[in-house]
Amino acid sequence: MNIETLLVATRTRDIDGTGVRGTMPPIHLSATFQQDSATEFGAYDYSRSGNPTRDALEGLLAELEGAARALAYPSGVAALNAMAALLRPGDEVLVSTDVYGGTYRLLSKVWSGRGVAVRYADLSDPAAARAAFSSRTRLVHAESLGNPLLTVCDVRGTAELAHAHGALLSIDNTSLTPLNLRPLELGADMVIHSATKYLCGHSDVTAGVLAVRDEALARTLKFHHNAEGCVLPPLDSYLLLRGMQTLAVRLERQEASARAVAEALLNEPCVSRVRFPGLPGHEGAAAHARQSKGTGAVVSFETGDAELSRRIVEALKLFSIRVSFGALNSSASVPFHMSHTSIPQELRGSHGPPRDLVRLAVGLEHAADLIADLRGAIAAALAYERPITAGGVA
Ligand SMILES: *Cc1c(COP(=O)(O)O)cnc(C)c1O
Repeated sequence: MNIETLLVATRTRDIDGTGVRGTMPPIHLSATFQQDSATEFGAYDYSRSGNPTRDALEGLLAELEGAARALAYPSGVAALNAMAALLRPGDEVLVSTDVYGGTYRLLSKVWSGRGVAVRYADLSDPAAARAAFSSRTRLVHAESLGNPLLTVCDVRGTAELAHAHGALLSIDNTSLTPLNLRPLELGADMVIHSATKYLCGHSDVTAGVLAVRDEALARTLKFHHNAEGCVLPPLDSYLLLRGMQTLAVRLERQEASARAVAEALLNEPCVSRVRFPGLPGHEGAAAHARQSKGTGAVVSFETGDAELSRRIVEALKLFSIRVSFGALNSSASVPFHMSHTSIPQELRGSHGPPRDLVRLAVGLEHAADLIADLRGAIAAALAYERPITAGGVA
């Protein structure tokens, strides 16, 4: 079945024996479930271990990613952190340089404090990737489309490389969603989502997903999900299920508008570089086109002037200044100052975004309104007269 169909299929089960079958699953807020006897357990006993609403969500997520099992966590970062259960002190993790700032913070400041070595490399460059492995590399982690530089990870090639070195590959697929790319089919072992972004789509849930192909790996992670208690609550599970029903139509429109925005930015003389995987000149565009059906709806651009970039973002009216992406309404950010501040200043040249990079997350407004907003903000930022101070131009 196509993903568009899976997303809206009714998935209610009559677990209460009431015969009531709504179109949407009930929100089972109950923390505990009654048993038939002291020695017989039913399908559910305690909500941390299993909850019918969370199960409905996890079942859908597993189908979407073609996984043996998907687990839902209270944030994307919690889903990333769940992989720590697979590592021991002395193990090494190899990470792409173009990753979410919170991923950098978790790995470099939390995991490394527990004896896991973290190495960064540009995994879109095969020679650099190969050179970064050691005999202790146990896990390789990359984003299918990097945040915020939109670096393309060749999932199949990276999986072959990881497996040749006896390591697992996890792909953060937040920017592309399973509608565009299914990393497990291309050889990845694990898929991560910040479901806070496109999967939810409505900016009202913080959630994460970890989906795995291998049954034994799934059992280990499920054991830790319950043992460590880092589980998505039932109300959030319901809201996520509700939001996901419209994922296909949201993404289709947002991607079309993102392309229109990217093409409009190419015509702005003050814009020195536009990053969007649908543009023919984008680095990795060919690899992206081979593995992904669509582009995602994030567009980044540079102006060569950090002050000008900041002023453009502050002059925008429809794009609000916010971190995150995947929402119904458009947003703009300067990742250097916002989502990626946990990357140390001295590393932010090679690891992460340049100072003048603006990241646009394109929402469901009319594309013409978004383009007019950008043109107006660019004109206003260029017209701004820098105040004259005693030392000259500030
Ligand atoms: C936002 C984000 C995360 C972290 O997810 P949270 O839900 O904010 O914890 C991880 N990876 C990527 C690519 C993200 O954009």
